[in-house]
Amino acid sequence: MSHILAITNQKGGVGKTTTAINLPASLVAMKRRVLVVDMDPQGNATMGSGIDKNELEQSAYDVLTGKCHCTDAIIPAPQAGYDLLPANGDLTAAEVELLDMKMKEHRLQYALAEIKHKYDYIFIDCPPSLNMLTVNALTAAHHIFIPMQCEYYALEGLAALLETITEIQKVVNPALEIGGILRTMYDPRNTLTNDVSDQLKEYFGDKVYAAVIPRNVRLAEAPSYGLPALHYDKSSSGAKSYLALAGEFIRRSEGEKADTSLSADLE
Ligand code: ADP
Ligand code: MG
Repeated sequence: MSHILAITNQKGGVGKTTTAINLPASLVAMKRRVLVVDMDPQGNATMGSGIDKNELEQSAYDVLTGKCHCTDAIIPAPQAGYDLLPANGDLTAAEVELLDMKMKEHRLQYALAEIKHKYDYIFIDCPPSLNMLTVNALTAAHHIFIPMQCEYYALEGLAALLETITEIQKVVNPALEIGGILRTMYDPRNTLTNDVSDQLKEYFGDKVYAAVIPRNVRLAEAPSYGLPALHYDKSSSGAKSYLALAGEFIRRSEGEKADTSLSADLE
């Protein structure tokens, strides 16, 4: 059964898109079948996957508004090895068009239902707000995966996200759960990082992943080459940290004994 995760945090710049590219690429390296869905009109996950958002024939916009079938819009990301449902600025219009549609919260869920059997994991990269696109992602998802920076305002922002989750559970998706909290741009030498980190563990317990993502310039450079860090600089701390995250993710999802060995070309 495929496992659908929405990568969400209404704060911008916390590493959602970086995670939506690099965690899937690492899971592909561990031989899992993965789809990445770009639900952000900025199309950063699309560009970072090596697909030009300005040259799309069909995109997430067409799928959400019923203009095309999911399979007609999904394309392989050239280097990363996962499949991509790409997005660009058109998606902003979907947000408005959806408001008048029936079952408007369920459009993505229904679209994915037809193709989800092809994948082990589906990751949805959400925009930095709690709009109708994010609601569609949270309705389609089994779990929410929350990247966050360990800074004071991060916790404050999380409270709003938790309220949204409760609301979604009440109205459209009672089974929605937090799948994991990922500490990004992590600096263990910073006292505030450690304080916030401790508070997160106190509140969320083992939902907080042991794997952390350090600040690493390779992670910031790789998207401009349309590559996950793993295929840009395999030896970088960024690439390694996302591989470690993928290992932990698989063990949590599939059990301690699951195979996390890398495909032969990456060993
Ligand atoms: P979001 O999708 O939450 O807005 P991004 O993943 O786009 O966040 O990250 C915001 C910016 O920070 C981007 O320029 C990205 O390349 C950079 N970035 C993200 N994670 C890291 C990291 N661990 N180290 C260094 N730069 C990072
Ligand atoms: Mg983003």
